[in-house]
Amino acid sequence: MNSSELEPLEPYPGSGKPWRCRHMCGRTVAPTLSNVAQGRGICRYCHSVFPYAGPATLYLVADRDAVKIGCANRSGRRIDDHRRLGWQLAWSLDVPTGDNAYNLEQAVIAWWRDELGLSPAYTSDHMPQYGATETARWEDTPPDSVLAHVEQLAETWSLPPLRPHLTRYLTERPTSVCTPRARRGPIAAGQLMLPGV
Ligand SMILES: [Zn+2]
Repeated sequence: MNSSELEPLEPYPGSGKPWRCRHMCGRTVAPTLSNVAQGRGICRYCHSVFPYAGPATLYLVADRDAVKIGCANRSGRRIDDHRRLGWQLAWSLDVPTGDNAYNLEQAVIAWWRDELGLSPAYTSDHMPQYGATETARWEDTPPDSVLAHVEQLAETWSLPPLRPHLTRYLTERPTSVCTPRARRGPIAAGQLMLPGV
């Protein structure tokens, strides 16, 4: 841990268990010794392309049958990647940090699975890239209901108000379903929906 500039904050829990440490950047992280020994998972704030400490986006994409929650870098291509797979953007919110976005995403998934008892809408066969575990069926949890839940969580967690940064795109339920493979070429004009359209 010391050679990776991590200062343990609690007794050694075993090599495969999260070990709370302070990284040299000053943030508290909980990597496992076995990961750190292989140079992995040392500090998500310093060693991740996802901006855990910087501005981020929480979004919901939808197709005919499902919704999918996700968090992303604000300037990234993640939402365009979903469009190429047949998803449409239902809403997106600017959130102060990637940490907030990730925690909101995980809380929505826990709400679907643990409170509402919903299974994922798709399997990893249908979504081989990623994200099947972040889906639920549209009927059980339409985009507006997820947004309302996120706003309630944000208030409970005393996050700055999210609504002013809200952009909403999708007003009608899509008629198409997502595909396992991306379509080649540019996104069709009809799929690029602008605010207010
Ligand atoms: Zn760090």
